[in-house]
Amino acid sequence: MDLTIEQSCPSCGAPIVLLEDDRLIRCASCDVNNYRLESGAARYVLPSKYPDHIAPAQLFFIPYLRFKGTIFYVHEGEIGHKIVDATRIGIEEEKLPATLGLRPQAMKLIPVVASVEGAFVGQTVATKAAFTQAAMVTELFDGKSDKTLYHRAFIGETLSRIYQPCYLHEGIAYDAVVNKPLGSGRLLDRYQDKISPSKVSWEPQFISTICPECSGLLAGERDSLVLHCRNCESLWQENGKKFQPLSWQVVESDDRTAEYLPFWQITFSTRGWVLQSFGDYLRFTNQPLVVAGRFDSIPLAFWIPAIKLNPKAFLQISSQLTVSQWRIPSGSMRRLDNDHPVTLNQKEAVQAIKSVLAATTLNKSKRLPLLPQMTIVDARCQLIYLPFTKQPHDYVQEHTSAVLLAAALRFGRKL
Ligand SMILES: [Zn+2]
Ligand SMILES: [Zn+2]
Repeated sequence: MDLTIEQSCPSCGAPIVLLEDDRLIRCASCDVNNYRLESGAARYVLPSKYPDHIAPAQLFFIPYLRFKGTIFYVHEGEIGHKIVDATRIGIEEEKLPATLGLRPQAMKLIPVVASVEGAFVGQTVATKAAFTQAAMVTELFDGKSDKTLYHRAFIGETLSRIYQPCYLHEGIAYDAVVNKPLGSGRLLDRYQDKISPSKVSWEPQFISTICPECSGLLAGERDSLVLHCRNCESLWQENGKKFQPLSWQVVESDDRTAEYLPFWQITFSTRGWVLQSFGDYLRFTNQPLVVAGRFDSIPLAFWIPAIKLNPKAFLQISSQLTVSQWRIPSGSMRRLDNDHPVTLNQKEAVQAIKSVLAATTLNKSKRLPLLPQMTIVDARCQLIYLPFTKQPHDYVQEHTSAVLLAAALRFGRKL
């Protein structure tokens, strides 16, 4: 579930309520759009209700880590997945709650800015250890050599830090969210030497949404990772705090009502096993297709959705398109209309390659043990919009007959 955040408009300061995956921020007061950068883990504080005799500077903020995303794993012959949405305390303190429970979802979070007064306790638990405990997957991530775990990846990942405000009064530590005692004041005293004030570098960052090419206004939906200039027909993606041009293609359709879904078409090299041509892939996965010479001359690409989907649908559509990629005609850089927003970036898409390879492998017992030795290198991604015909309950890709449930697409927007 998305967190709700109370942000002030970077242009005029008016309050704006956002969802945590909002990128394109529209302000109703000044009508200016800003794009929120995805720079490291966002930091938020839970709202406090401390009494008047406590000054804001007396607050202590206890760090909790929040993880949201999907784990894909290949365990013996099974390709599994698990949706993670959990918090875990970031310090070793057994007397404080291990998680924030439902608080982050039930409250409007406030981004940490430099002017927030109080002491921020530093994280002492390694993020990875907190993650395996939060996700309850220590068996998948503990690094012990479990020979039957062939692969795991965390995709669509959001990591944020949520601070729980507390204060000390007359030797007692209080939870400032509900203003109730937590226990002895020594609980917080122990952290006196591990605190720091808020930093400017923790603040959320924004850039303006002006097209670098023609100075037109870039458009997109609230959660778009790729913005569109309709004036000069260009696509832009933020990288290094700037919008960079993105190359894309649209595969033509005869269907005028077709809707275009974005996919990352990823070509790459491998170490540990040669997967260079589509023929190599068919042999590896033992697909029931005659590997005639023509498949050996088609370079292999993986087709991974550039949109968030529920894990089952994500694997299914990636598998269907990757297996039938030879049926997809090449596209061109034509005017883009009826398109769905990009909500999954290429870095995450590359992470999905081995899971899709495992899902499409038919001779699992023979091939899956090879996955740990295989490394994906030099991944190159191109954004391709494929036409889908909308039917009452699903979207059908006209060249490959690949099917995507409409419900999976709706669910993915909320992931
Ligand atoms: Zn404004
Ligand atoms: Zn432009």
